[in-house]
Amino acid sequence: MTKKIIKGFSSLAIHGGHQQDPLYAHLTPIYASSTFVYDEAEQGMRRFSGKEDGYIYSRWGNPTSNEAEMKIAALETFGIEKDGRPLEAKAILHASGMAAISTLFISTLKRGDKILSHFSLYGGTHDYLRSILEPLGIEPVIADLRDLELAEKCLKADPSIRMVYLETPANPTIQCVDLQALSTLAKQYGKITACDNTFSTPYLQQPFRYGIDFIVHSTTKFLNGHGTAIGGALLGTDLEFMHTRATKTFRVLGGSSNPFDAFLLITGMRTLEVRMDRHCANAQEVAGFLDKHPAVGRVNYNGLPSHPDHAVAAKQMKHPGAMMSVELKGGFDAGVAFMNRLQMCTRTVSLGTCDTLLSHPASMTHYSVPRENRLQYGITDGLIRMSIGIENIEDILEDLDQALS
Ligand SMILES: *Cc1c(COP(=O)(O)O)cnc(C)c1O
Repeated sequence: MTKKIIKGFSSLAIHGGHQQDPLYAHLTPIYASSTFVYDEAEQGMRRFSGKEDGYIYSRWGNPTSNEAEMKIAALETFGIEKDGRPLEAKAILHASGMAAISTLFISTLKRGDKILSHFSLYGGTHDYLRSILEPLGIEPVIADLRDLELAEKCLKADPSIRMVYLETPANPTIQCVDLQALSTLAKQYGKITACDNTFSTPYLQQPFRYGIDFIVHSTTKFLNGHGTAIGGALLGTDLEFMHTRATKTFRVLGGSSNPFDAFLLITGMRTLEVRMDRHCANAQEVAGFLDKHPAVGRVNYNGLPSHPDHAVAAKQMKHPGAMMSVELKGGFDAGVAFMNRLQMCTRTVSLGTCDTLLSHPASMTHYSVPRENRLQYGITDGLIRMSIGIENIEDILEDLDQALS
């Protein structure tokens, strides 16, 4: 792939990471092989000692997975320069977003370290901090990191904080944190930074541009784009660390992806820009429509000037994205009735697929969570979460309108 002549994001999404197949297949095949063979014993020696490039065992690396890794790394560094040269990153493909997050935490933290993070985190990540890391002696410090003075106070007060972990925008109210400001602050205090970029994708937001050290993705969402596979990625710009400690941790923890899912991901990523443009245009229309609807109390969408993080989102994102939530005035019952009346949009959790996905956390994901607890996280009785799809906008609006009436 002649990356040099490529100027556009979509061209890179289509061609980036591709290597000519030795048998001249147009697309990189699904290399469904657990292990790889040697011409002679000496070749095995050279591969195991790292003197010769080549695959050894698919938990360690696989050609199909490798193409997905190269593509994600190309997109997350697209157009970014550091010291006058194109920024380089290494990506490691995982079996899920959670597996990538696990490799990140386990490879960078040790007993006694703390993680500074915020309230609006993906549920699984929050659970990981509380049920996996805390018993290992790695404590989370949770604060509202939209307040930069508070963030600095936390960093100053506790020298054992090792990492600042961010997710922006995030569920359920699409809160955003300032990547540039927080990464600058973290650097000042000698901390490493990581960002979950799942909601934005590199098309809308590139955390490396703002000095973030690590990026994690659930590729299950917009990157795959079709809801066909679970997957995740860990990326870093410290190539030395990524090739040693991070790779080691990944290989030993064993959260590797598989060539079939990697193939689906590669296919999905090729259309990322055109899908995202449509997702975003539709979301802007839906937000405007719901904002004026009499049955809707509040629309949480950072593309609306009324959203508290509108300015931060506008500063660091190309477009506010396709995720939003709305509060129905009628509370819990209105939420259930609305979900039941939907005719085209899909009732489900998850996000980032071609169809518009709606969920009612109070009756679904958070049904068994005590009401006071979920209210703390902004999950009110009538909150509906939406991942706006790429259907024709008139059909989305009509379905929402009839379900609201
Ligand atoms: C889904 C999701 C994850 C977890 O990813 P899996 O692929 O389900 O393991 C992490 N972060 C965010 C923001 C997500 O939406």
